Amino acid sequence: MRLLFDEMLEKTARWARLFGVNSLIAKGDDSKILDLASSTRRILVTRDKQLAARCKKIGVRCFFIKSVVLATQLYEIEKAAGKKIFSFPKKTRCPACNGRLAIVAKQKVAEKVPRLVYRSHKKFWFCKQCKKVYWQGGHWKNITGVYGALKTRLRRVLFSKALSRGGRSEAISLSSKTRLRRRNRVKKERK
Ligand SMILES: [Zn+2]
Repeated sequence: MRLLFDEMLEKTARWARLFGVNSLIAKGDDSKILDLASSTRRILVTRDKQLAARCKKIGVRCFFIKSVVLATQLYEIEKAAGKKIFSFPKKTRCPACNGRLAIVAKQKVAEKVPRLVYRSHKKFWFCKQCKKVYWQGGHWKNITGVYGALKTRLRRVLFSKALSRGGRSEAISLSSKTRLRRRNRVKKERK
């Protein structure tokens, strides 16, 4: 899945990259953003209601995001996609430039990372595009935490919320159906 994030969701876009989704960030006015989404055939992700409405008008696919909370935004994106799109760390992309990551031999990064990092880590990756080097540093825990929230806790919470909402509306529709059936039965009995 290829996404184009509205500039206001830049941080979310970088996280989507970390979780393996090909994500670009669009800057400029709305018309420019729409042109880019259309010409690159990417799905636009935005929190701007008006921009989402314009997408609909001109036939550009769009994911309209409501939440301001990162994990919930990511959840909304996966829900809008209708399938599992996030994969971490298997498909992780460079959060800085969207490039693909590849494992690099430790000795090749000796000059590129702090000495302490070099000594305490075995595995390193580099971005094929911007050549930035990555390792499982302190931020790793935070990333796995967000990913975990996205995949388990958050899903459960939202699922149970949806269930309770669905349950209520179902109860209402059932009771109105029952009422209708009763009314019909009364009519028949009268005849
Ligand atoms: Zn990069």
